[in-house]
Amino acid sequence: MGDCIFCKIVNKEINSNIVFEDDEIIAFNDIEPIAPVHVLIIPKKHIDSMNDVDKSDERLFGKIMIVVSNIAKQVGIADEGYRLLTNTGINGCQEVKHIHFHLIGGQRLQKI
Ligand code: 5GP
Ligand code: ZN
Repeated sequence: MGDCIFCKIVNKEINSNIVFEDDEIIAFNDIEPIAPVHVLIIPKKHIDSMNDVDKSDERLFGKIMIVVSNIAKQVGIADEGYRLLTNTGINGCQEVKHIHFHLIGGQRLQKI
């Protein structure tokens, strides 16, 4: 995925502020945060969007949910709460075509 910006972050070709990393997952601060805490959690494996997740990804995505829960505690937003979201496709306003979860918190968010 030669020109994927998040693959470049995975490969350390682009700098990011890393919050968590293991062999399959990396989490880093969003470059344009919309709240005091705005972390992006991604699988290192390139997957375009939610439309491309299949049965073979079951274990990985279960692990991502546990990583999200741990990061929320690590960055101190678990008790007061937060939002986890994934934009998909045109109507979802997905800009970066490498699946990612936005972990947003540190302030009271607008109700959706
Ligand atoms: P999307 O709109 O695709 O759901 O979200 C993409 C997110 O990636 C945006 O919130 C944007 O600020 C963030 N982003 C885009 N390019 C970079 C980058 O080079 N580094 C970091 N850390 N975040 C980025
Ligand atoms: Zn990618």
